[in-house]
Amino acid sequence: MDHFLYRDGALYAEDVPVAEIAAAVGTPFYVYSSATLLRHFRLFDEALAGMDHLVCYAMKAASNQAILKTLAQAGAGMDVVSQGEYLRAKAAGVSGDKIVFSGVGKTAEEIRTALSGGIRQFNVESEPEMEVISAVAQELGQVAPITIRVNPDVDAKTHAKIATGKSENKFGIPIARARAVYAHAASLPGLQVVGIDVHIGSQLTDLEPFRKAYEKVAELTESLRADGHDIRRLDLGGGLGIPYTRSNEAPPLPVEYGQLIKETLGHLGCEIEIEPGRLIAGNAGLMVSRVIYVKSGEDREFLIIDGAMNDLIRPAMYEAYHDIVAVTEPAPGIESLAYDIVGPVCESGDTFAKQRTMPPLVAGDLIAFRSAGAYGAVMASEYNSRPLIPEVMVNGDQFAVIRARPDFDEMINRDTIPEWL
Ligand SMILES: *Cc1c(COP(=O)(O)O)cnc(C)c1O
Repeated sequence: MDHFLYRDGALYAEDVPVAEIAAAVGTPFYVYSSATLLRHFRLFDEALAGMDHLVCYAMKAASNQAILKTLAQAGAGMDVVSQGEYLRAKAAGVSGDKIVFSGVGKTAEEIRTALSGGIRQFNVESEPEMEVISAVAQELGQVAPITIRVNPDVDAKTHAKIATGKSENKFGIPIARARAVYAHAASLPGLQVVGIDVHIGSQLTDLEPFRKAYEKVAELTESLRADGHDIRRLDLGGGLGIPYTRSNEAPPLPVEYGQLIKETLGHLGCEIEIEPGRLIAGNAGLMVSRVIYVKSGEDREFLIIDGAMNDLIRPAMYEAYHDIVAVTEPAPGIESLAYDIVGPVCESGDTFAKQRTMPPLVAGDLIAFRSAGAYGAVMASEYNSRPLIPEVMVNGDQFAVIRARPDFDEMINRDTIPEWL
């Protein structure tokens, strides 16, 4: 459920008409609903009630300071994958003991920043990384809390670009080698082993892969404990999928996911961490765009809009489907048309949808891409010298620009011309 609904013939973001925001900030733009972000965070938090737990929002999904602060104030921790994300989390007021650091390529500098600023744990992805963390920790006179990310070799049955839990993926250490790698970790003076980490992929629409992975984690917990390791924390990653269309099968709910965690891991008495990103932010955001031209092709109508693949890359990159709706509610019974919806960028890949059924639209009309809150603004670029589009947050009947559109000079002046020119 989200808070983007039609009221009196117009699309609203909570209690603000989307068209009013468009008039104020220009198009295209992203708009987020605070109530939806909070609702999704709380669904996870409640799903784990009764277990010692922390929901660490995977901030790579949408990392604006206002989003982080909204979630942090509700009690969320953060899952970060770079120094930049770590510093963003800190800047939004998240304390180090609520930040977990994931990712396969943490550099010594990133590790130093996190240890100096405080960190809940590093989720370690390889033995060479383990040695670097230990060395940096020693240099700072600290002991770094770590989990080791295991790769359970489970097929997440999701898009190949976002599957991470198969042995062919670059993530984690093979679960079959876990005991040897934990023994190695325990021998390093700068490390303290606190648990196990697993994350098998994103946009999972079935609980079975999670069940398989978590059963393997439960078994591993017992054998590592038998080896003398103090396994007290299990980080179970993110990955729960969202409905991108309102017609397709509904993915499992957070409460069902929480139930599965209790069933597979509840008996171990561990503290549970989860790292949802997409499910918290995805349906909490729209990308709003305006029709520039309606162009008749040989055999089809093109809706050329002012948003493009550089603003929202998911369709081009993952063949992703987004529901696209008219901001003015179609009159009941109106005959719809099929459009190819495309942006102005000079690539055929700049196509958001083919033969999409929409109400008849004309130049100047506003449309909204639903489920654009996660992996939207964060993956945007300025390709074709199109300035990054603004982000707006709504809270009840108020809205605020939370990242302004840079003007053209700002964009151009980021470049510097060498002296010799
Ligand atoms: C991307 C990622 C997540 C979040 O995945 P979602 O599908 O957005 O929930 C969580 N943990 C790790 C380690 C990730 O790489």
